[in-house]
Amino acid sequence: MEFTNAYLKDLFERVSKRNAGEKEFLQAVEEVLLSLQPVADKRQDLVDAGVFERFVEPERFVIFRVPWINDKGQLVVNRGFRVQFNSAIGPYKGGIRFHPSVNQSVIKFLGFEQCLKNSLTTLPMGGGKGGSDFDPKGKSDREIMAFCQSFMTELFRHIGADTDVPAGDIGVGGREIGFMFGQYKRLANEYTGVLTGKGLSYGGSLARTQATGYGLCYFTQEMLKTMANTSFAGKTVVISGSGNVAIYACEKAQSFGAKVVAMSDSNGYIYDKDGIDLAIVKQIKEVERGRIKEYADRKKGAIYTEDKDGSKGIWSIKCDIALPCATQNEINLESAKLLVKNGVMAVAEGSNMSSTNEAGQFFVESKIMYGPAKAANAGGVATSGLEMSQNSIRLSWAFEEVDQKLKGIMEGIFHKIHDTAVEYGQPTNLVMGANIAGFKKIADAMKAQGCC
Ligand code: NDP
Repeated sequence: MEFTNAYLKDLFERVSKRNAGEKEFLQAVEEVLLSLQPVADKRQDLVDAGVFERFVEPERFVIFRVPWINDKGQLVVNRGFRVQFNSAIGPYKGGIRFHPSVNQSVIKFLGFEQCLKNSLTTLPMGGGKGGSDFDPKGKSDREIMAFCQSFMTELFRHIGADTDVPAGDIGVGGREIGFMFGQYKRLANEYTGVLTGKGLSYGGSLARTQATGYGLCYFTQEMLKTMANTSFAGKTVVISGSGNVAIYACEKAQSFGAKVVAMSDSNGYIYDKDGIDLAIVKQIKEVERGRIKEYADRKKGAIYTEDKDGSKGIWSIKCDIALPCATQNEINLESAKLLVKNGVMAVAEGSNMSSTNEAGQFFVESKIMYGPAKAANAGGVATSGLEMSQNSIRLSWAFEEVDQKLKGIMEGIFHKIHDTAVEYGQPTNLVMGANIAGFKKIADAMKAQGCC
């Protein structure tokens, strides 16, 4: 796909110069601007109000030092980030990622995508994202706590229940959120819902742990029903990753009658032709914090394949439905071609920006059902929004109530982006549908709020 709108082409050239070298951020901006061309063609008022210009520039970006002491008594310095991308439709909202690959570009791409995702949920949430290049792997609980406390010692002055509400992401689960919440409470001397993904005993929401994976399957089920009059039942599914999103996507897909045959981590993938035994995966990953490799030692007939390439080999396994749930750019053009050649009918993204732009474009051109991350994985942040509501009214809803609301939101997101794709004349292009539908709400709010 190429730029045909001269204004957006020029804007992307300027963004590329201003953010030179930030490849993930530029990848995300390019994909979005390309699909917003029909909007720019029609809406001169948004061009005149500088909405596109402002939309690609974060409102604020904080970078800070995170010093902490390891178990050997040595001082270690990591780098912390928080991007507050857009607050036109609500307080900034978006997760925190701890992974060695985190840098300015990764945080900005995640924050940018988050704005559109949060808009699609219909809840009043702006977009933000944060993280650090800290690697939690192999660290003791004390080291994790020391790091989280130091990270929050700087972050606390930039966030607040009505300002910016972070959550978890890669490397940040319940344990890390707990340590950060404790430190925030100490520093701010107030008890508010400043983070989501909290434990149930201190303001967390039931179903938040399951939300992104379950939401991904609710979205996919609705996509299968509407676009192909079919469902998960009897389908073979491949899921990359074995973290929070992957585990609960597997649980829900299995409950819908699918057979999940493969999962992975950053060292390799397992293939189990009889269907993954999720209890074993949960024991290894959630309880023992071990490696997916160990699954093959515990389940007869399962095969482990080491994959130094961030487990891209998993996409060579034949399946009907692929759910990438590990990290960005995990599906490149080569993997996309292999999936389509092997007969995949649907790809729905649990991880953010799972596919390179070339791979995503290939899925769209192949006319398979392709649910982009900003729509398909919005269940996590949607349920975080529900956690914020419960904190505000000081009440807790039952699991079933939250789960039903999540299901309704995910089905609503599918129909909104599908209707938009139909309206713009490309009924199978859900990437375009998601970008346009998410953008319109933010754009109208930005225009109404004037030059800010
Ligand atoms: P976790 O840390 O719980 O799990 C991440 C999984 O992906 C692990 O299995 C990890 O393997 C694997 N992984 C991470 N980096 C790589 C890599 N470079 N190559 C191959 N595998 C990798 O994170 P989540 O499950 O929370 O997040 C997964 C994705 O979902 C991310 O893209 C995140 O942004 C997105 N997401 C998460 C939400 C949430 O609510 N948690 C909400 C919306 C999106 P290993 O253990 O070896 O690192």
